Amino acid sequence: MVRYWKSKKLEVVVEKRRAELDLLIDFANVDIAMEASRHLQTRVLEQLRWHPALNPVSRDLKVDDQSALIIIGALQEHLRLRLDVIIENKQMLWEMPLWQISGSLTFTLDPLDRRFQERFQLRKVKRGNEINALKKVMDLWLVEIIRDLDFSPRRFGQCPRCDGFFYSPTAKERVYCSTRCGGATRQEKFREERRRQDDS
Ligand SMILES: [Zn+2]
Repeated sequence: MVRYWKSKKLEVVVEKRRAELDLLIDFANVDIAMEASRHLQTRVLEQLRWHPALNPVSRDLKVDDQSALIIIGALQEHLRLRLDVIIENKQMLWEMPLWQISGSLTFTLDPLDRRFQERFQLRKVKRGNEINALKKVMDLWLVEIIRDLDFSPRRFGQCPRCDGFFYSPTAKERVYCSTRCGGATRQEKFREERRRQDDS
């Protein structure tokens, strides 16, 4: 039997990326005005700010309480737009360009890890334009997650009942975000049907 080389890194990476995708989906769905979502917001913002592709200049974005909500709001809107464009086109009728990220890719040999290493760096951002830089990192982060998980675009969805974004962990295509939304819709249809029968 031929044994092909397999990366030990793979399983760990997939697990990590799944947790990241869960985090992003939760972030896309959360009401950012709610105090309870603060922890989620901080986690997303920290992930973006410490992404290796981000230039150090863009990293020292000053975030006080006032501007935090504006930044978080802009990032959430950006993420929702990205998920929207995937879901709108997931029937894949033709090749659909989703988004583009410009920067430079450096390929190196890393003596510490004794591995190849690729380092992608975004273009330098002018001061005052840090939100844009964070949006770019968000784009890149999404690409990294999707690339590592390597699943069909059809796994992304938006619930017709609560408008919540979701992704399906299995290949079976899902319509509703949860059994709760699915069940509630079925019950409504059932009641509607009964009412119609009673009326006639
Ligand atoms: Zn739902």
